[in-house]
Amino acid sequence: MLKKIVNPLVIASVALLPLMSACSSDTRTEAKASESVKKEVTAKSGKDFKLEPKKVSEGIYCMFGVLDGPTKENAGFMSNSCYIETEGSWVLWDAGATYKFAEQAYAAMKKIKDMPVSTVILSHEHDDHWLGAGYYQKNFGAKVIGSKLIGEHFKPGHEAETRMYTILKPEDVEGTKIITVDETAKEGTTTFTIGGVEMKYVSLGQAHSEDDYLLYLPGKKVMLAADVIMNGRITSNRDGSVLGQIKAIDTVKSMQWDVCVPGHGFITDKTATDESTLYFKLLKERIIAALDDDVEATEINEVVTLPEFKKAAMYDMLNSNNVSAAYTELEMAD
Ligand SMILES: [Zn+2]
Repeated sequence: MLKKIVNPLVIASVALLPLMSACSSDTRTEAKASESVKKEVTAKSGKDFKLEPKKVSEGIYCMFGVLDGPTKENAGFMSNSCYIETEGSWVLWDAGATYKFAEQAYAAMKKIKDMPVSTVILSHEHDDHWLGAGYYQKNFGAKVIGSKLIGEHFKPGHEAETRMYTILKPEDVEGTKIITVDETAKEGTTTFTIGGVEMKYVSLGQAHSEDDYLLYLPGKKVMLAADVIMNGRITSNRDGSVLGQIKAIDTVKSMQWDVCVPGHGFITDKTATDESTLYFKLLKERIIAALDDDVEATEINEVVTLPEFKKAAMYDMLNSNNVSAAYTELEMAD
């Protein structure tokens, strides 16, 4: 009770502070002004991501984002992207969320090997994975390969409508542009050999998003799975499919790899797929059991929970939506 009485008083006196300091001497005002100019200059340059690419396999370096949604604090660095070394150029798997992120990622990679980026291959249409691609088109004329949905759902000039522009600070999205995909991804498996490195770009259909792809490097036994595999955090199944996810995870697991890089998360060893496998298995089983018990849509979040994942990042934010979406999907599939 005491707290409630005291707080408004504190707020009131804090509110008076700017007025009080505005009345102070000219020198102080000047000092303050130069300080704010300084602050603005630092702010305008945007976030320094302090990127340290991690070598996950011979010639493959990845940048691992934090386990969260896009926030002002992380400036959109919350997804993973990888650089693949080929003869004469880098090939990129996903481009990160902003121009400035891409610029810093390239600067870090240039120290490892100074060569251009020839190709950017994208996993899916969610903007945290590709909005940075414009940096590579602009500076290297890199060819961008990705889902047709990027062109269908995102129009150049409409940057302000993207999640990144809505959430991040202006100085962190500066220069970020919606790109036009140069080559639309095809169904099935497309095999590229770029600079002597063989890559298989495999369509997974609707799984995590409406149109997902993985990139498999058979010669290196590396799987770049993007968002059909996550660990350490809960996935967002907002426009995906439980059945599609299970199928996509099976596809990932059916291929021979020693390293599997998730779209979000830090585990890349043989256990990389474990959490996603368990999450979707339990989600499907529990929703089907609830449907058999005639549980209504309005009650599904009370009946189906996934306590096994309660400690995973973003559980509180995403799990109940995933449960509701899974209910709608599996009820229709029934
Ligand atoms: Zn995604």
